[in-house]
Amino acid sequence: MSVAPAIVWFRQDLRLQDNPALNAALARRGPVIPVYILDSAGEGNRPVGPAARWWLHHSLAALGAALRDRGSRLTIARGDAAAVLRAMAATTGAGAVLWNCRYEPAAVRRDATIETGLKAAGLTVLGFNGSLLHEPHTIMNRQGRPFQVFTPFWRHCLALEVTAPMRLATGKIPAPNRWPQTVKLAALALLPRVNWAGEFAKSWQPGEAGAARRLRQFVARAMRDYADDRERPDRAGTSRLSPWLHFGEISPRQVWAAVKLRARHTGVFPPNRGAQVFLKEIGWREFAYHLLWHFPHTAERPLREKFRRFPWARDPGGAKLRAWQRGRTGYPIVDAGMRQLRQTGWMHNRARMIVASFLVKHLRLPWTRGAAWFWDTLVDADLANNTLGWQWSAGCGADAAPYFRIFSPMLQGGKFDPGGDYVRRWVPELARLDAPHIHAPWRAPDLVLVAAGVKLGENYPRPIVDHAMARAEALAALKAVRA
Ligand code: FAD
Repeated sequence: MSVAPAIVWFRQDLRLQDNPALNAALARRGPVIPVYILDSAGEGNRPVGPAARWWLHHSLAALGAALRDRGSRLTIARGDAAAVLRAMAATTGAGAVLWNCRYEPAAVRRDATIETGLKAAGLTVLGFNGSLLHEPHTIMNRQGRPFQVFTPFWRHCLALEVTAPMRLATGKIPAPNRWPQTVKLAALALLPRVNWAGEFAKSWQPGEAGAARRLRQFVARAMRDYADDRERPDRAGTSRLSPWLHFGEISPRQVWAAVKLRARHTGVFPPNRGAQVFLKEIGWREFAYHLLWHFPHTAERPLREKFRRFPWARDPGGAKLRAWQRGRTGYPIVDAGMRQLRQTGWMHNRARMIVASFLVKHLRLPWTRGAAWFWDTLVDADLANNTLGWQWSAGCGADAAPYFRIFSPMLQGGKFDPGGDYVRRWVPELARLDAPHIHAPWRAPDLVLVAAGVKLGENYPRPIVDHAMARAEALAALKAVRA
């Protein structure tokens, strides 16, 4: 008797290698129907943001091509995933639906409902771990509760075995007798109508092949110096794997294995300090998912309850928020980060910390506004990592920076962009300013400004808030929360 087709529902696992759901479907030895569904309502109030949609478009194109090379194809649909899957199973006679699990609250709720419905219709439904080293529900502290501090969380994880990545079990993926209906990729309208993402293609190659290349290059070259270079936005010292990891074009298990392979010559794992610190950052990603899964309300509300009373500032007309979004705050390191974000869909982690701190502490605008802007503009927008990053910066999350530690943009700039090259690259108005003045142009003598062609208030803004005053107000606001 022939085996009924199995539907593999691709979501944030847009790859063929180390894909447990796809491998399990192949192990059934029947036809396989790879499917992608753009189910915006199913994502709750976080449908894929505009910059990430650009990435998704190209990633789906790459996945479709990779499947065609294997004698298969990607069926694309739009709308309610439950209805689409039910209809597809009926028209193709599929007997099973397999997927790699998601951990965001809306997706968890939706997937549970879909599973119940499909099982009631007589289908087999199987979920796998395709995107984490360890699933959140498998990790608990000694008291049987979720971790809220990173160091013990990571120590606990390091004592566990990481499963080796799986290779795709076959050259050809068996096709069904009857393919379900598909819409064209273009019909998903993922690309912006006005081409503001024109610069993105210079920075990125979405898809599994691009991810593998980036990982290979990073492990071979930059990883050794990662421990020092990762803090420097003026250097290409980090992996930039975040969008590929978000969309699952590469898995953390593959990252882990690549670092391990590097260690084979030395017999020591991790092979050097750079590798150790790099894996720890992969650990922060794990921690972010751990927190979001165990505390699903944190995508909207602070983990630390008392911060719900924080006295945010008023911003009539939204002028301050807009200045921040456009990179026109008058603080060069902040503006450089925000412009890098708009032009490339990505921002260096140190810059993310600086701009987030500035929004929350200098402008005293709610972290949720910043998180929403990041959601729209990052190609790596990821609910778990974004929530952790913003709550950490605002001081209201797990293991967060204390609220009273207020970054000075001038000191941060001087320390992490000492020559000013990061600012020069993204804020060309300041390109001719020398290093001593580039992080505080308003303090530069007039002659220096004239020589550099900088006209404060004309071609580059004066600071929109005074640092010392903003700092004092933020500390007073904190006192109010504590009281
Ligand atoms: P690398 O330094 O090479 O690190 C490797 C991988 O580890 C990253 O790709 C990422 O998956 C993970 N990682 C690294 N740092 C962190 C971290 N602090 N928290 C969680 N995971 C981490 N990351 C996102 O992927 N999506 C987001 O939406 C996001 N929003 C953020 C918002 C704020 C306010 C802050 C402070 C950080 C945010 N981050 C986010 C985390 C971090 O900035 C990025 O993951 C990192 O800059 C990506 O660059 P990379 O791939 O070169 O990282």
